[in-house]
Order: sequence, then C-alpha cells, then structure tokens
Amino acid sequence: MISTKMAQAINEQINREFFAAFLYLAMANDATEKGFNGTAHWMTLQFQEEQEHALKFSKYLQDQGHKVVLDALDAPQTDWKGILDMFEDALLHEKKVTAWINDLYTLAIEEKDYATQSMLRWFIDEQVEEEASCNDAISALQHVGDSANGTYMLDRQFGKRQED
Ligand code: MG
Repeated sequence: MISTKMAQAINEQINREFFAAFLYLAMANDATEKGFNGTAHWMTLQFQEEQEHALKFSKYLQDQGHKVVLDALDAPQTDWKGILDMFEDALLHEKKVTAWINDLYTLAIEEKDYATQSMLRWFIDEQVEEEASCNDAISALQHVGDSANGTYMLDRQFGKRQED
C-alpha cells in the first residue's frame, strides 16, 4: 500500500512522461521536416521510450491499487533552429525529469515507502543514461560546429541508434 500523496505524485509523473514523449515526437517531426532523418529516427525511439516510462509508472500505480488519471498535455514547441538546439533542449528536459524523479524518491524516503524507493531506483539509473546520450550527441555536434558535412555525417550516425 502506498499513500494517497505518493500515488498523486506518481500520477503527475505519468503525465510528465507522456509530455516528454510528446516533446520528442515534436522534435522527430521537426527533424523530418528539415531533412534530418537520422535525428528523426533517434527522437522517435525516444518518443517510444518515454511512453514505456509512463506505462511502467502506470503499472506500478495499478499494482498498488490506485487509478491512473490522465491529464491534458500542453502543446510542445514545434520548431528548433537545428539539431544541436534540439538535443540541447532534450538535455534540459531530461534534467527536469531527473529532478522530478529525485523529488519522488525524497518523498518515498520521508514516507518510509520502500516499495516505491525500489521501483524508482530503475528510473534513477535510467536518467543517468538519458542525460548521457543527450550529452554525447551535443558534444559530437559541437565538434563539427557549422560544418554541413559534419552535421550530415552525425545525423546518419543518429539514424543507426538501436532500440534499447
Ligand atoms: Mg522518461
């Protein structure tokens, strides 16, 4: 059994994971429109991953006997200057998600809610990966700078990302 307060906090996170999915889909759409098909593929995988996160939290809430309440999503940004700008925004967003997950963990500690702490540890590790993969893309793009050739090669590389 988890507290109503904890359940509400997890429910909020479910909606945030769906917003993150929505944001990545908007990035995928913008990348496609600008001809960066590799980046579009990368962002589409991320869109799918975020939905899986939302469903993983949902399953936990349901296993604990709570109802999942979906909320309206804000419209995401639709245009980015380029793919570097896009990955930088993705990193900023992942940092926000990390902070929210840390807040959930803090609440779980305060409530001596060991089951939720255990569930959240997977997400804490996952956020390290999420931030690292955005950081990798950003530093590679910063290396090639304004080179259209370099950006093209990196976009192709992002297109090789596998589902994890
Ligand atoms: Mg997520």
